[in-house]
Order: sequence, then structure tokens, then C-alpha cells
Amino acid sequence: MTIYEKAKSLVTAREAAEHYGLTANRYGMALCPFHDDHNPSLKLDERFHCFGCGEDGDVIDFMAKFFNLTLHEAAQKLINDFGDGEFIPDAPSPPKPPDPAQRCHDVLLDLEVRLHRQKRETAPQSMDDPITTEYAQNCQMYDFIVGLADLLSGGTEQQKADEIAYLTGGVLDHYERVLQKEVIVYDDIF
Ligand SMILES: [Zn+2]
Repeated sequence: MTIYEKAKSLVTAREAAEHYGLTANRYGMALCPFHDDHNPSLKLDERFHCFGCGEDGDVIDFMAKFFNLTLHEAAQKLINDFGDGEFIPDAPSPPKPPDPAQRCHDVLLDLEVRLHRQKRETAPQSMDDPITTEYAQNCQMYDFIVGLADLLSGGTEQQKADEIAYLTGGVLDHYERVLQKEVIVYDDIF
């Protein structure tokens, strides 16, 4: 259980709001402390939602906003005020070893999506438009990346292993940097 789950298990947004001085009517509506409210527009139940200013969230969001705290501080305050004050989080589960095949797949897919878009954006708009170098290069890059992705999903075990070794030997790091760029150019891929 996380500190957030613990805090939320202790108290609802309505209970917390009433504890800290808000008064809800029988419909669960209260004057909203987050805007200048003259008719109760804050709905309080498990969560809270203001129909006036749009503030919305769970009890932790409410606390954070109401007391100007971080979410972590808000959760801790709820545990102090409504629980026994002590919270020992579960030991974090050991990080999973990164799966290289999955990472290859993810990066290639991101590239594929980006290049597909570039291709579409640079495509000739009519029969009379010339095929620009930019478009031709976008097509080449796209086909190359799709080829890599296909091999990764449909190749033999040996082909997949070879490709993963190739990609994880620095190529993926390069591709990840390329993905940060506004426009991917030919030299980025070839
Ligand atoms: Zn409001």
C-alpha cells in the first residue's frame, strides 16, 4: 500500500472537509473554499467537485489545495489527523530488469509513428506536385524502420536476437535522441 492509498482509505473528501470546518448541507453541498462562493457549489462525497470553479479531485487533492501542500504532505497530514500517524510504506518492489525486446519495440514504434506523420505532411498534394526529396527520404526512413519492426516481431529467434543486440548496442540511444527532435532527417536514420 502506498501512502496515498493509506490516506484515502482513512477518510473521504467530505469527512475531511467537514473536519477542517466546511459545512455540507443535506445534499452534500458546501461553500467552495477555492473561489468566492455564495451558493454552495462544492459537492462533497468520496471525492469533491466544484460546479463553480471546476476544482475536482480526491481527498488528497482536496488537502493539498486547502492547505497548500504537496500531495505527499497532504497524504501525510491525513494520516496524522485521521490515522495513527505512522505509515510505513511497503518495501518497494525491486525494479524489473528492463526488457530489451520491449524497449526496441517501443522506440521503433515511436519512430514509425513520427515518420508516418512526416511522410503524410510532405506527401504531394496533387498529381501535379513534384515528389520532393524530403518526401522521398521520409518514405525511405519510414520503410527502413517498419522493416526493423517487422523483423523484430516476425523474424526467426536468431534474427530477433541479432537485431536486439544491434539496436541495444547504441542505436536505440541514438534513436531516442532523434525522437526528441522536431523533425527527423535522413542523416538521423542512415
Ligand atoms: Zn469552487
